[in-house]
Formats: sequence, structure tokens, C-alpha cells
Amino acid sequence: MSGSPVVALDGPAAAGKGTLGRRLADHLGFAYLETGLLYRAVGHKVLRSGGNPADEAAAVEAAGSLSPADLDDPKLRSDEAANAASVVAAIASVRKVLVEFQRGFASHPPGGAKGAVIEGRDIGTVVCPRADVKLFLTASLESRANRRLKELRERGIAGIHSRVLRDMQDRDTRDMERETAPLRMADDAVLLDTTELSADEVFAAALAAVERQTEK
Ligand code: C5P
Repeated sequence: MSGSPVVALDGPAAAGKGTLGRRLADHLGFAYLETGLLYRAVGHKVLRSGGNPADEAAAVEAAGSLSPADLDDPKLRSDEAANAASVVAAIASVRKVLVEFQRGFASHPPGGAKGAVIEGRDIGTVVCPRADVKLFLTASLESRANRRLKELRERGIAGIHSRVLRDMQDRDTRDMERETAPLRMADDAVLLDTTELSADEVFAAALAAVERQTEK
């Protein structure tokens, strides 16, 4: 590996990227970046100021003025923030601002970490196309919706299955069909379908892939 090693972790919503990414980062001693939070924070900021997430000027202004405190807001975990995120995420000028930050994180991981695990939709294809390891996590729509419902319930939010499923499907479609940096698997990524796997099995498979790729 040359430079600071990067593990790129992409895939659709609720495929298990967050759980895996944190665990991999802990295990490897790498810094962890959940890039979805950046898009959520931009969408949420625009909504909070009474704007429309599809308004390019408002979204770019929000992206340019993000502060670390903006990323700590628990409201970023709401489906409203997720939907606003996928609207601002389709705006090329917003992505440009956020991608710069992500590349800086990859080349200089904070806290003296030895490398970075970066999770998102376009990390292996656009943000870090030369990442040392690329993983693409997926799972059936049904199992992803079930996971999201469970997460919501654990946070005391009553979700309706059909609504969660539809929102997730709409968001995936927007993410896959946008012109700029659509969600897609990089040609050199390792595909992990987590539908039938436990969190431990996903971790073991991902770690094996990391070890294989970094031994080359
Ligand atoms: O990963 P998370 O569900 O938090 O992402 C929220 C939204 O942010 C995604 O649906 C997607 O539209 C956008 N996103 C993106 N590129 C990334 C990460 C997230 O477009 N690298």
C-alpha cells in the first residue's frame, strides 16, 4: 500500500455499512468517516432555514458553512433528513464542496490514525477511486427496510413498514439515477450481500477481503 491506506465502503441505505465501517475502523486503528452525515447535515440545514433542498444556491451555501457541531445533531438520523440529503446530493456543486472535505480526510486521517474507512455511495468510484480496498455492501430491499424499522423502534420512533420501504426505494432510485456520482459498484469492488448474514459474518467476510487486498 502507498500513502495512507483507505477502505472504501459503498452501498444502498441500511445495508449494514455503518455497523461494519465502525467495527473495521476500530479493528484496523483507522479513522472512520460516514459521508452520508455530511449530506444529511446540508439537507437538514436547508430545511431548518425554511428553504427547499432542491434550491442549488441554498444547498451550496449550507455545504460551504457546515461546522462540526452541525454533524452532531440527532435529528440527522431522521428519515426527513435522509430524504433531504438525497435531494441535495444530486446537485453537482454541493458534491464538489463535500468531496473536497472527504478527500482531505482520506489523505490526512484525523487523530494520527494509520488510515481511513470511508463509507458512502461514491467512495470507490469518485471520492477515492484508488482506494486500497473497495467493498460494496448490499441486501434485499425487504431486509433493509426491516433493519431500518428496527433502528427506528430502538430510537423510540414508530415507523410504518410500507412507508419505510417506499421511502427507501425512492431514495435508492434517486441515488442510482442521478447524473453526478450515482450509486454504483466500482468494477474492482468486492460485493458482499448481507441479506442472510449476521453482523459477525459480515465483519469476518469484510476483514478477509481487506486482508486479501492489502497483501497484494
Ligand atoms: O448513508 P446515508 O443513508 O446517511 O446517506 C444519506 C443520503 O446522502 C443518501 O441517500 C445519498 O443521497 C447521499 N449520499 C451520497 N453520497 C455519499 C453518501 C451519502 O450521495 N457518499
